[in-house]
Order: sequence, then C-alpha cells, then structure tokens
Amino acid sequence: MRVLVVEDEKKLAASIRRGLEADGFAVDVALTGDDGLWMAREHDYDAVVLDIMLPGMNGYKVCETLREEGNWTPILILTAKDGDLDEAEALDTGADDFLRKPFSHVVLVARLRALLRRGAKERPVELRVDDLVVDPNQRRCWRGDTEIELTAREFSVLEYLTRNAGSVVSKQEILDHVWDYDFEGDPNIVEVYVRHLRRKIDEPFDRSSIQTARGAGYRLTLERT
Ligand code: CA
Repeated sequence: MRVLVVEDEKKLAASIRRGLEADGFAVDVALTGDDGLWMAREHDYDAVVLDIMLPGMNGYKVCETLREEGNWTPILILTAKDGDLDEAEALDTGADDFLRKPFSHVVLVARLRALLRRGAKERPVELRVDDLVVDPNQRRCWRGDTEIELTAREFSVLEYLTRNAGSVVSKQEILDHVWDYDFEGDPNIVEVYVRHLRRKIDEPFDRSSIQTARGAGYRLTLERT
C-alpha cells in the first residue's frame, strides 16, 4: 500500500513516515500543497494523508482540486484546528476522513486501514443539468442521447460550469480551476472555450444554457432555455 503524506512540519512528516513504514506502508512525503497535488496526480496512491495548513496551496484546495479532476484516492485530512465547521469543510471538499492533531500513531494507522478497506469510493459520477449529462470519471458528455465530443480543456471548463450550475462563475474562477495555477496568460482565453462549448452543447440543440453575466462571468442555467 502506497501512501502520500502531505505535511509541511518536517519533524511530524518524518515521524509519520517512519511509523507508517514500520507498519509496512510505502510512503512518499510532500512538504507543500503544490508538491502534494503534483505527486497525487503523477502517482497512483492508495491513500493520501493531507495536512490543512500548508504553504502555498492549502489542504482543502488540494483535496478539492483532486476531486474536481476525478481523482477519488481516499484522503485523510489532518488539522490542528478544532470544531465541527472544519470537519464539515474538510468533508465538503471531498475528503473521506478527518483527524485532529495531535493524534496517536495507532489511531492514524487504524483510520488509514479503514479507508483502504473501503477503497476509492464510488461517488456521484454523473452531473446532470436538464438533459445535459457530464461524467467526470469517464470525461464524457451527452445532450440527451447524443454524445458530444469535447477536448480535454473544453471538458474541464464544462465540468466546472456544471458543478456550479445555477451560479455565476467568473472567468478568473474558471481559470483558477481549469488552468495550471501558474498560468499567466490572458484570462480572455476562457471566452474562447465558452464559445467552443456553446457551439457544441447548445447551438446544435437550439439551446442557450451557457449564459453570459455581463462583467461578471458565466452561468450554466438549470432551466431549459
Ligand atoms: Ca501544517
């Protein structure tokens, strides 16, 4: 079983690694959220132990990003913070479990084993807005019975709009979620992708589901228009 530990406190990271290795896990450590995200994308881990407070991208964001990308590796969130709100937030981002610092090694291993037994959880795979169906796992999309061919980037933009259906999302939000975090190009590139999407998911079906909110962004409407 291979586990990724994302924890910026080096001593704690080292002690988690030693403990897990003693229990027979193979362990990789990332010291920042950005590295953790990169490693989780590159390798197929059986579980991720993810600290919340990290330099750069925080743990919530790492977890949310992986889930948005259709990565369902079990994630155990570590946090020093207290209170139900944090737990709710953690689970809201798609984490599977939650452990407060300080924790005992025995508890960590027990929780990890429980997650591993469950495996990558089946989640609501298809997103539906009216007769538009978006499947983030297979990265396929349909309008009614008609499958629509999308490029990887078009799909990601549509998935983000679909996950936020009914709400206005700004170009910047779309950029932040769909493009690499170090993208420094023109935010108007989003317009180009929205135009492509309209040509594919709306115009052939005589719809206008992707609406422009002037000066604010875009909204995928929930109603048939
Ligand atoms: Ca930390």
